[in-house]
Amino acid sequence: MTELTFQLNNEDETIAVGQKLARHIQAPLTLYLTGDLGAGKTTLSRGLIQGLGHKGAVKSPTYTLVEPYELDGVEVYHFDLYRLNDPEELEFMGIRDYFTDSSLCIVEWPDKGHGLLPDADIHLHLNYVNQGREIQIRALTESGKKLLAAIK
Ligand code: ADP
Ligand code: MG
Repeated sequence: MTELTFQLNNEDETIAVGQKLARHIQAPLTLYLTGDLGAGKTTLSRGLIQGLGHKGAVKSPTYTLVEPYELDGVEVYHFDLYRLNDPEELEFMGIRDYFTDSSLCIVEWPDKGHGLLPDADIHLHLNYVNQGREIQIRALTESGKKLLAAIK
């Protein structure tokens, strides 16, 4: 199985997907999150990061591009590349150094990375549907497939 789609009727259901991912996720892993503004990418990230044990707020790294967390010994990096103007900024921040063999990277707006980002293991796409959302989850590597199988 490499693809899964389901409905998210409200914010809590979006958070629940993040929490479920948190229960099964194993670093290293790269997760791409796509979908229009307001589709729920940060909401899902919040469920995931808090599900991994983070107690505080999860701020959207819109201006900082990346927000780091150290959770249970795992380095978690939450990226939001929406405001990236110049791909050179990614080189300046040493983008590839975040994607280590032990880190968990969550990337909103990966398309703005202009091919400078490592490929994803799993790609989550959120769509507006009626009052709620639909999420499509696609596994792209063996690690991604394992995770998808665990949360289905
Ligand atoms: P993005 O990061 O994709 O721009 P956010 O997560 O910041 O989006 O914002 C999503 C908005 O949509 C929030 O106001 C949140 O409460 C709401 N939301 C999240 N999931 C759902 C859902 N399944 N149904 C309806 N509203 C949702
Ligand atoms: Mg966001």
